Amino acid sequence: NYDTNEIQKLDTAHYMHPFTDHKALGEKGARVMVRGEGIYLWDSEGKKIIDGMSGLWCVNVGYGRTSISKAVYQQMETLPFYNSFFNTTNVPAVQLATKLAQISPPQFNHVYFTGSGSEGNDTNVRMVRRYWDVLGYKDRHTIISRHNAYHGSTMAGASLGGMSGMHEQGGLPIPGIVHIGQPNYLESGKGMTEEAFGIEAASWLEKKILEVGAEKVAAFIGEPVQGAGGVIIPPSTYWPEIQRICDKYGILLIADEVICGFGRLGRWFASELFGIKPDLITFAKGVTSGYVPLGGVLVGDRVAKVLIEQGGEFNHGFTYSGHPVACAAALENIRILEEEKLVERVAEETGPYLKKRFAELADHPLVGYADSCGFVAGLNLVRSKGATVHDNVAFDESLAVGMVCRGYMFNNGMIMRAVGDRMIIAPPLVMTTAQIDEMVTQIRHCLDLTYADVKERGWL
Ligand code: PMP
Repeated sequence: NYDTNEIQKLDTAHYMHPFTDHKALGEKGARVMVRGEGIYLWDSEGKKIIDGMSGLWCVNVGYGRTSISKAVYQQMETLPFYNSFFNTTNVPAVQLATKLAQISPPQFNHVYFTGSGSEGNDTNVRMVRRYWDVLGYKDRHTIISRHNAYHGSTMAGASLGGMSGMHEQGGLPIPGIVHIGQPNYLESGKGMTEEAFGIEAASWLEKKILEVGAEKVAAFIGEPVQGAGGVIIPPSTYWPEIQRICDKYGILLIADEVICGFGRLGRWFASELFGIKPDLITFAKGVTSGYVPLGGVLVGDRVAKVLIEQGGEFNHGFTYSGHPVACAAALENIRILEEEKLVERVAEETGPYLKKRFAELADHPLVGYADSCGFVAGLNLVRSKGATVHDNVAFDESLAVGMVCRGYMFNNGMIMRAVGDRMIIAPPLVMTTAQIDEMVTQIRHCLDLTYADVKERGWL
């Protein structure tokens, strides 16, 4: 039992939220989410909301899965926790590591568990540096990432990430992490075909390698499709060229699949979709559908061989690595994904349907461009449209039209995220084609409301 006003007051008084401008939240405070079922959420006032963001890229199997809560309960009753340090292990962690080796690309046969995606990426930093140390290349420590990327909030994760707002706070990045541009065709591809732009954007990696000195570069890290950066879907030529450059210089390739993994792009791991063969894959979120925290790194044979057979002890670990309750939840989550063929459904049925319905939104006067890949999608709000996507006229950034639109969504039963003036979604993989129709209708309605509003403000 709770009183919404009381909860909101206590929230304002005591709860420091992540990535939240508390001043902007105002007196009333945050909206209180209380229940979920399938693709829907309910707030404390009983309002039903389509969760277009799966919690935050997490709830792949949807809300209300009692078989996951049962698996968690059972494991808590049997063995709630024991560490995996030194010479002990536990059954769910071993079973999950085995399962992950089965469903991931063939080069992956080992798993390093963490409690989150950020910890997974911190582990990557230490792992690739350790890899080169063991091989006798003590200077080979630089990691190349991309601007506007998000790889977590720990010191290393936030440094790998390329968000200037995060770097401004806390003196980031830490040494040994450098960035190149993102393969954002809309932003940087004017005058080029998408294919040519993909090759051009990948060439920035080679330039950076030569600038740093190939003998100093340990690894390149990137999300197959940048999520938090605004659902940036790279041209098809980009990743194969990145792979070719990494191979040319012997540089390790890390795919951060915290968002892209576990079916979100219609594959268990999205690197398969883009034809690349990473050495390490970061995972989190979708591994448990967010029901309990869990993350980790899939360790490819190239790295595992050096670390395990040659390296001896890797002085790194978290108390909750391989937490039995989290691993039990993950096993049940993966069982559901398999049983309901959700990964295949996104690849063959609902993903293509979402693509078709989402693309139709580009006829709205406010939408300059709409694209999707599997179950992530984005659309760009523009002041007016030109002959090509590169001729569209953007709103003045300071008007924050994306936030205006997000507000209409939020207050009209639809969770959609704004990244600047790009509106993005990543719905639960259980969403049906009928529910996609329902969602697109809702989005169009909110776009209409936004359009009327900005018109009245004289912004068009
Ligand atoms: N990598 C990516 C691509 C992410 O989107 C996120 C979280 N949004 C992280 C890493 C960090 O994961 P966590 O929040 O679980 O630490």
